[in-house]
Amino acid sequence: MKIIKTINEIREQVSSAKSSGMRVGFVPTMGALHAGHLSLIQAAQKACDFVVVSIFVNPTQFGAGEDLDKYPRNLELDAAKCEALGVDVIFAPQVSEMYPDGFDSWVEVGGEITKVLCGRSRPGHFRGVTTVCAKLFNIVLPDAAFFGQKDAQQLAVIRKMVRDLNMPLSIEACPIVREESGLAMSSRNDYLSDIQRVDAAIIYKSLLASEELFLSGERRSSVLRSKIASMISSVDYAKIDYIEIVDPDTLMPVEIVENKALVAVAIEFGPARLIDNIILSLNNA
Ligand code: AMP
Repeated sequence: MKIIKTINEIREQVSSAKSSGMRVGFVPTMGALHAGHLSLIQAAQKACDFVVVSIFVNPTQFGAGEDLDKYPRNLELDAAKCEALGVDVIFAPQVSEMYPDGFDSWVEVGGEITKVLCGRSRPGHFRGVTTVCAKLFNIVLPDAAFFGQKDAQQLAVIRKMVRDLNMPLSIEACPIVREESGLAMSSRNDYLSDIQRVDAAIIYKSLLASEELFLSGERRSSVLRSKIASMISSVDYAKIDYIEIVDPDTLMPVEIVENKALVAVAIEFGPARLIDNIILSLNNA
């Protein structure tokens, strides 16, 4: 497995894989790889012949005062995990390779989709995400890119960017991988103390409770949201950023859930801002 740092070299590698007829799969990450990331890599390997994993802590998606500096970085350990899975290439550029002096072009998805949910509390975040993903897609030129449903808004925004700008790749969504407690795996879980990690299981429990209410016939978003809020409030230091019930594609609020909706939450849990979600669907019943 190669670890490549330059755009020229990753282009050469992918181009030679493509010229031998391989389908190229791409898994963009910020590293500190956990089982959630590894599940994306495995999905990519299942669907493609040549898999590129990028590891890049993208500064443009962090706001002032966010955790850019303390975000966990461990390329050696990440590389060992990728190698064990049989990843073909890691692309791990320096910031200066992706954003050289004079860089001043941005890709921004307009409309409400980037303004609601995390867009409200993290202004500019999705502009950073779409810009880096557009750049990575242009650099790697994959046939398919694999994203986690964990970041449901990111997935919806990337899908819209690809559709609106006719980017020639498919976007594949992979299910959320959870710890045994139900806590969604996240590199940011590293910020939690042992006790906070145990307490944080309440997030998924509350989502499951809302699903149970929904499946027993409750359709009012306000009631479903209150159930989640009251469970999360049982942890006295947990601060609710948002609990929203929205259309899974447009992310517009849904007052009465008919067939399908996305329940998305963001909770300041001590030192970590944790996000999680669940899809309510009558087809899951
Ligand atoms: P990140 O390194 O946090 O930027 O995440 C890279 C990719 O991994 C994104 O597509 C995430 O949605 C995905 N991902 C992160 N956590 C999980 C998880 N627990 N289950 C599935 N995918 C995940």
